[in-house]
Amino acid sequence: MGLALPTERHYPMHTYRIDPGKKVNLDDFDPAETRYAPGGKENAEQSLLQLNRQLEALQESLYAEHKHRVLVVLQGMDTSGKDGVIRRVFEGVNPQGVRVASFKVPTPVELDHDYLWRVHQQTPARGEIVIFNRSHYEDVLVVRVHSLVPEAVWKKRYEQINAFERLLTDEGTTILKFFLHIDPQEQKERLLERLEKPEKNWKFNAGDLKERALWKEYMKAYEDVLEKTSTPWAPWYVVPANKKWYRDLVISTLLVETLQNLEIRLPAPFSAQEIAEFRRQLSQEDRSG
Ligand code: AMP
Ligand code: MG
Repeated sequence: MGLALPTERHYPMHTYRIDPGKKVNLDDFDPAETRYAPGGKENAEQSLLQLNRQLEALQESLYAEHKHRVLVVLQGMDTSGKDGVIRRVFEGVNPQGVRVASFKVPTPVELDHDYLWRVHQQTPARGEIVIFNRSHYEDVLVVRVHSLVPEAVWKKRYEQINAFERLLTDEGTTILKFFLHIDPQEQKERLLERLEKPEKNWKFNAGDLKERALWKEYMKAYEDVLEKTSTPWAPWYVVPANKKWYRDLVISTLLVETLQNLEIRLPAPFSAQEIAEFRRQLSQEDRSG
């Protein structure tokens, strides 16, 4: 099964998709570019409002149809905007059908299981959109960079992850994976902002500085993720994320286009007879009540 991949001509944002098996060098991706928003920030914000309304309607149909499941995976360095995407892209979407699952340092119970155990529990049900704020990819990112398991163990995980995602899509889940790409200069500014604003201090972690120092190692680990786990059934998109408005525009567009391609159908409406019968019952209730 898997996603029918639209052509670039009709869907320019799909150029951010990583072709399966393609060699990836993140230096070739400019985190600051905004090439599909020639009208700049103001225009993009108009488009974003429209996309947001479309997403709201599509989500309602998805929920009503109760057939497809949608999984959005967000990965990126600290401050890359995972929380911002969740706040902005999903603004106004009915919280009943959207759920966020955040993956933090595993608990002792989680560590006693295989690394996909906690992840599978959080995958979407029919009619549901689930956003992964970090994901099973941490098990080949932070785990690799900090040698939390031996190389022989994490090296096998790319194939295991592809098989896991294949299972999910075979069973009716649509998967979209976004790598929010920022550069170290942008991260520095965002970290400084967190220090400057007292109300943002809580977002600053001393640990973030240690991860920042490992930037090169992380980019290498991300390149392997993009190369080995962008599949026809669960593609990765490298999202230029230095500009928050552009990041949101890219993700909103890809999400709306993907949901539109699902050709969601609402359940058949009632027949005239059924409606007449229900009306009759309601009016009887009036008379007897
Ligand atoms: P944050 O997303 O900033 O709240 O931080 C969550 C932290 O949990 C990050 O530093 C992640 O790298 C870490 N984390 C998530 N999953 C794992 C994992 N499987 N093993 C180790 N650390 C993880
Ligand atoms: Mg953090």
